[in-house]
Amino acid sequence: MAKKQKSGQGDQTNVQESSDMPVGIFPTIRGKFSSVEEYVQAAKEILEQKKETLSQIKKFKFDTIAVNGIYTPKEAINYNQGALIEPLYLGVAQAYQDTNEWEGAFRYKVPSWCYGRYANPTVWYLEQVLALLEAYQTGHETSCLVTASGMSAIKLAADAFLAKQKKGPEEINFVSSLQLYGGTFQQFIVSQKQDRGIDVRFVVNQTDLNEWKEKIDDNTRFLYTEVPSNPQLAFCDIEAVVNLAHSWEIPFIIDATCATPALMRPIAYGADIVIHSLTKSIGSSGLGLGGALISRKPIVTKLKNDNPFFKESFAEFVKWLSFRDTGPAAAPMNSLMFLNDLRTLRPRMDMLSQNCQRVSEFLEQHPHVYQVDYLGLPNSPLYDLAKKYMKLVDSDDGQGNELNRYGHLMCFRVDGPPENARKVFDNLKLIFRAGDLGRIKSMATLPALSTHLQPGEEFRDKADIPDQMIRLCVGAEDPGDIIADLDQALNSI
Ligand SMILES: *Cc1c(COP(=O)(O)O)cnc(C)c1O
Repeated sequence: MAKKQKSGQGDQTNVQESSDMPVGIFPTIRGKFSSVEEYVQAAKEILEQKKETLSQIKKFKFDTIAVNGIYTPKEAINYNQGALIEPLYLGVAQAYQDTNEWEGAFRYKVPSWCYGRYANPTVWYLEQVLALLEAYQTGHETSCLVTASGMSAIKLAADAFLAKQKKGPEEINFVSSLQLYGGTFQQFIVSQKQDRGIDVRFVVNQTDLNEWKEKIDDNTRFLYTEVPSNPQLAFCDIEAVVNLAHSWEIPFIIDATCATPALMRPIAYGADIVIHSLTKSIGSSGLGLGGALISRKPIVTKLKNDNPFFKESFAEFVKWLSFRDTGPAAAPMNSLMFLNDLRTLRPRMDMLSQNCQRVSEFLEQHPHVYQVDYLGLPNSPLYDLAKKYMKLVDSDDGQGNELNRYGHLMCFRVDGPPENARKVFDNLKLIFRAGDLGRIKSMATLPALSTHLQPGEEFRDKADIPDQMIRLCVGAEDPGDIIADLDQALNSI
């Protein structure tokens, strides 16, 4: 690359001369310039470097992207004391050199993170790697917003489509699968329906395309589902629902928390927006809360918005408007921990899925268990559907066939009255009793008494969450030890 010497540009020229992979993040502008235009010019060069880095990273396989993200050796050496791990920036605000740089930044012409509620460099590393992983082999570009929690990502995504389009009263609805994480159901029922009067229409059996069709009309703003759902492991034919949504010119939003991009990337099937609770399987260490909203570029929507980002880069639209204005910013420390967990996402989801498969096969044979729900069991009514969508990325079975992996969440139902399930649950000795999932450690939950207590009995009946159901999220302990613990607990009744 030609050497461009600019007044005060300092060592930046050296960075550009090298043929190594350049830097992925926006470094701050080095050197002082005498006009806004010159800062913008310097910024253009930085943005070019970033584009070049991204295009090189996109050629890597999933694991390579997961391990390094956009952090390169060049960046480590030139901007981060050579450290191997992305820097943790706890400082809340960025300093500027002078009014010219500041003006360029506030015109969004000079890359800048400005203030921690809008953005933070450590969070950026995480956003970029999630965008790349979710887009991997889908043929699409994506953008990503990381938030303080999964719930805030869901709320921000939904609200952007529920904004008023005209003066005066408006009938607005959205259609969602009923099989949802309890917190999402509460958010839809309380904040959207009760508080705001949005007509929330639930699909009870999301594999039934007709049920979706019957609920949609001209005022439907989006379709929503969670696959596989927590805890029932409900599934739908994503491609079919995508086609339906797009025939109405509305987006399909999918919460894919329990799959992670290692097992399923809904954007490959045409989904517009993907939600993750990073708190769960992506952040398997369980050391922090976080959420992510990842959008395809562009999304399908018939809503009019003067801001072109709304359609072209929805996650960025949310980031620079409602996210900035409401403030559910992600913690930089949590983001660094998520980056660390992401590095081993594919092999981890492989191992956890295999453990869960073994445990579910054991439970299926157990005399005190009357039903096991796990997508990897050929007896499951959703097995064929899950087989179509849940595949370990970049893997085959040794004979060139795709390798199915079904995740580490399962449920089983204990024979007899609800007290039996409580007894089995209380007798677990190795497995933790916790309203949590996605962990490297095995966890069990009684959904009817915890995660799904608040929505009430009627919801639980419809969503098929009986008192006898124990949700089990299988960890990385030796599966023989997990099975032994379950066996002794089941034999206590
Ligand atoms: C936990 C969970 C959420 C909410 O995420 P938080 O990070 O706890 O706010 C959303 N969707 C699913 C499927 C979940 O399991």
